[in-house]
Amino acid sequence: SETFPEGLQDFLHALNEDMRTAADWGAPADYIPELAAVDPAQFAISVAMADGRTISAGQHDKPFSIQSVSKVFTLAAALGRIGDTLWGRVGREPSGTAFNSIALLEQEKGRPRNPFINAGAIVTTDALLDKRAPREALAELLQFIRYAAEDEEIYIDRHVAASEEATGHRNAALAHYLYSFGNMLNEPDMTLGTYMHQCAIAMTTEQLARSGRMLAGLEGAPRLISADRARRINALMMTCGHYDGSGDFAFRVGLPGKSGVGGGILMIAPGKASIAVWSPGLNYYGNSKVGTEAAHRLANFTGWSVFGA
Ligand code: GLN
Repeated sequence: SETFPEGLQDFLHALNEDMRTAADWGAPADYIPELAAVDPAQFAISVAMADGRTISAGQHDKPFSIQSVSKVFTLAAALGRIGDTLWGRVGREPSGTAFNSIALLEQEKGRPRNPFINAGAIVTTDALLDKRAPREALAELLQFIRYAAEDEEIYIDRHVAASEEATGHRNAALAHYLYSFGNMLNEPDMTLGTYMHQCAIAMTTEQLARSGRMLAGLEGAPRLISADRARRINALMMTCGHYDGSGDFAFRVGLPGKSGVGGGILMIAPGKASIAVWSPGLNYYGNSKVGTEAAHRLANFTGWSVFGA
């Protein structure tokens, strides 16, 4: 297994100290009341390494709402359940639009550009749901994530789910619009409820970093997906994981990454590490502001960019 850079633990501590002095943390997501109430001045980072250790700095024991980071797990679980037929319903191209955009759906006749924008994630959740009761699909997804992280404590925060259900008019519009094109198997409101509960999964950076080991192909990671599938999911994370900010994230960090409006980012350094950062304040694209800055510095320090050291 790969040796990790000298002094990574010291670097993480120094990074945490530095990030804590941030002049501008950004604002937390404002359209989900439970998230809007979160203090933006928080930071955590965890790195699960090839030697089996996970090292952290900051508030790495504090669960936060993973939101759209969950789309990675739903995609993996849906592909495991129905295989590559999923791609008949959702594409694999970056959208260049905001995460919650409806703009391309009309010209694309209800086939969303990729599984990481909301429209594509709703279709993916619909495929995983597959006419079952929402609680059955959610139990499967939660089990998948718990197994990936080797941690039974991971849970769904029902307050966050309820908060989004009360205000999620855009996602409701997307789900019903998808239904009108025949790209939904289930009643739109069943799929929506499942999707919003999936987004309300709470995890610490430590749990999230450990859950990504399967995508990094680390030795000792639970074998939930094939190497082929991991490589392809990583490709989608690189091209689509930060919505219309994906190009900039690739430019600055150079790692497959998936963000969520809870301020979490999961990043994969294939063969080397799985990394999670969290800071709730967001930038223009709805991705963690301080988290992205920390990811940039970590990539510079480690030389882990997939485009070269
Ligand atoms: N639950 C959020 C939504 O659907 C997830 C968005 C995100 O994390 N980017 O709007």
